[in-house]
Amino acid sequence: MVSPVRIDLHTHSDRSDGTTPPADLVAHAHAFGIDVLALTDHDTTEGWAEAAAAARRLGVTLVPGIEISCRFAGHGVHLLAYLPDPTFPPLVEELARILDGRRSRLPATLAKLRGLGIDIDTDDVRRAAAGAVAMGRPHVADVLVAKGVVRNREEAFDLFLRTGGPAYVERYAADLVAMVHTVAAAGGMTVLAHPWASRHHHEALDRDGLARLAEAGLAGVEVDHQDHDAAARQRLRDIAADLDLVVTGSSDYHGAGKLDHEIGCNTTAQDCYERLVALARAAAAASGRSAPAVVGA
Ligand code: AMP
Ligand code: FE
Ligand code: FE
Ligand code: ZN
Repeated sequence: MVSPVRIDLHTHSDRSDGTTPPADLVAHAHAFGIDVLALTDHDTTEGWAEAAAAARRLGVTLVPGIEISCRFAGHGVHLLAYLPDPTFPPLVEELARILDGRRSRLPATLAKLRGLGIDIDTDDVRRAAAGAVAMGRPHVADVLVAKGVVRNREEAFDLFLRTGGPAYVERYAADLVAMVHTVAAAGGMTVLAHPWASRHHHEALDRDGLARLAEAGLAGVEVDHQDHDAAARQRLRDIAADLDLVVTGSSDYHGAGKLDHEIGCNTTAQDCYERLVALARAAAAASGRSAPAVVGA
């Protein structure tokens, strides 16, 4: 019997809030028996080239992606974008705006922490986020860990940084429906990341919301994710089947930055992956953009 192809379509490197450089991430995936890997750093394509070189060296198939910070009905939502032309100006502009929002939020976050008696300065966070283009709350969390205020990122979020928490500050995020269109116009294809994760779950992403997104051109939903329990996975799978959305499963690996998210802990079925690649190819042809190809396919 031929062993099944192992496909993990959502991982982070240290170009955002993962702890592994892109090349090491690919090597780690290879060592774990992953055949097809997507690099999906938050709001940046910065790791693509390094990951692609490592993938070629090791014989791993690499799908270049981005996890884009979006907003839908007033709530933060993460959108996985695969294979868009990274030079498409509307996409470049939106990502720049999001990254700028990440940077300009930092002083406000630190001021809130100071108000709670915790003194951290910008340079501490810059150092913690050394390789990252997309800096964020996890890097602030790392400084809190280094200073002994909390034991790990999880505790930093629980006590201070979680949405609505005492040191939480909102930042700019792109309109979700507009971004689905933008990625399509860039020759790529979109999958909604962990729509029912407890941190993000909100009523707007019910069946009707997902139907609206499917109509806008969303290709798939991430069903198998550590933040979805068995009941949520089943219900989402049913809705996806109804709406003809492709089902994916992924680890959302962040290196040492996220516990219980080891690479390959959830995977995507090969037929689902092939459907996604075909949709991306169709989008690329329709857009007239020179979208990137899957590396090593
Ligand atoms: P930001 O991008 O700055 O808004 O921070 C959100 C990121 O923090 C997410 O992408 C997660 O990777 C991470 N995160 C959110 N909640 C937690 C948590 N409870 N423990 C560890 N990391 C978390
Ligand atoms: Fe993250
Ligand atoms: Fe996410
Ligand atoms: Zn993620």
